[in-house]
Amino acid sequence: ANLTGDTMRRFDSPDDKGNNPHRMLSLEEAIERSLAATPKLGGETIPLTDAEGRFAASDARAKVSLPCFDNSAMDGYAVKSCDLKSATADSPVGLMCVGVIPAGTFPADSVASETCMKIYTGSPIPDGADAVIMQEDCRSTSGDGATILCNEWVKPWENIRLQGEDVREGDVVFTAGARITAGSIGLLTASGHDRVEVGRRPRVGLLATGSELTEPPGGLKPGEIYESNRAMLASLAARVNAEPTPYPIVPDSLDDTVAALERAFAENDVVVTSGGVSVGDHDHVKPAIELLGGSVDFWKIAVKPGKPFVLGQVGGKPVFGLPGNPVSALVTYLLMVRPALLNMQGARGWRLAKRPGRLVDEMINRGDRRHFARVTIDDQGLVRSAGGQRSHMLGSLAKANGLVDLPPKSRLAKGERIEVISIDQ
Ligand code: AMP
Ligand code: MG
Repeated sequence: ANLTGDTMRRFDSPDDKGNNPHRMLSLEEAIERSLAATPKLGGETIPLTDAEGRFAASDARAKVSLPCFDNSAMDGYAVKSCDLKSATADSPVGLMCVGVIPAGTFPADSVASETCMKIYTGSPIPDGADAVIMQEDCRSTSGDGATILCNEWVKPWENIRLQGEDVREGDVVFTAGARITAGSIGLLTASGHDRVEVGRRPRVGLLATGSELTEPPGGLKPGEIYESNRAMLASLAARVNAEPTPYPIVPDSLDDTVAALERAFAENDVVVTSGGVSVGDHDHVKPAIELLGGSVDFWKIAVKPGKPFVLGQVGGKPVFGLPGNPVSALVTYLLMVRPALLNMQGARGWRLAKRPGRLVDEMINRGDRRHFARVTIDDQGLVRSAGGQRSHMLGSLAKANGLVDLPPKSRLAKGERIEVISIDQ
């Protein structure tokens, strides 16, 4: 429901090369540029037991077939199907039991006509047998179990798991860029792997700029606030395998900003700053990047909260300059930085997961930028505003578990079906 039907206002001219400080990019353009600007970090080989959540850097092939050999799906008796054609509960067929095949052994003997072998789930099928009859459909005549009375016919290959029916030796079981899950760790191990090549973890230097910022547990002098973006961004970045390093708070001076950025670039693959990226007299991030010989590619995206935003590079390493307001920092991280951190690891998918939900109350965006509103979504999919939506408000940020993308100048009615972006990813 777009109230005016107009699309996002654009301030750029066609010949703009991205250095116009008033340039406004759509979110899609901004993400595209950020992905294009982030280098792939290359791979490393690690134990599978440490690989959950990482992204495969190369394809992996099965070293063995699964199942490795024809084996039984049941506890019972390995038989020749044709021997039991006439078997019923009233007129059972007797077979002589000629051996036992415990798990982990391979039968030396074979099953001849009118004989059978006791077999367990997962045990190899002996030569000569072409079916397994379940234990429950048999009984033994005497205490020693030498003759087995079978109450039922079993079709050829019934209760047998065939070699290679799941995975064949040489099959690609995992493709480059896929996320390693518990299930894929199971498959890779079963098919003979103990290690896997994955994209390297991006080292992320986290800087917070602002002369008003200080850290708990110390007290606040008049005009000071507790800095919260580094800790919040570190926990978000760790979710996508990054190795975050928080650096000391950077006061609003160009020299301090240059020095802090220089160190962070030297020690990391990517730098994320917060604060100091608007057009105020104390906003030094953009000039500091330029002084370090880097470039700033664009610096406003048409989303709320979130404008302004810097994407730059120094020596080929990307830098993301997030706004200082904690909510804007979180939203721009999720929308812009998270995809880049995934891209650096060679991940195939970087899009944010969404859940379908239904609005309990109407939501309105009167502005001309997309608004990513903080919401709660419950187990039934009912979506409510998480509270105050202004970009300095942390109370609703802690309550929210989702974001709803409200188009510019739109009203979403009560009861409307919407998609909710999960914050916890
Ligand atoms: P700035 O983007 O530097 O203009 O900051 C915008 C607002 O966010 C100001 O109210 C700052 O005090 C606040 N702010 C900036 N950085 C942080 C931070 N790291 N933690 C908490 N608040 C911050
Ligand atoms: Mg500031």
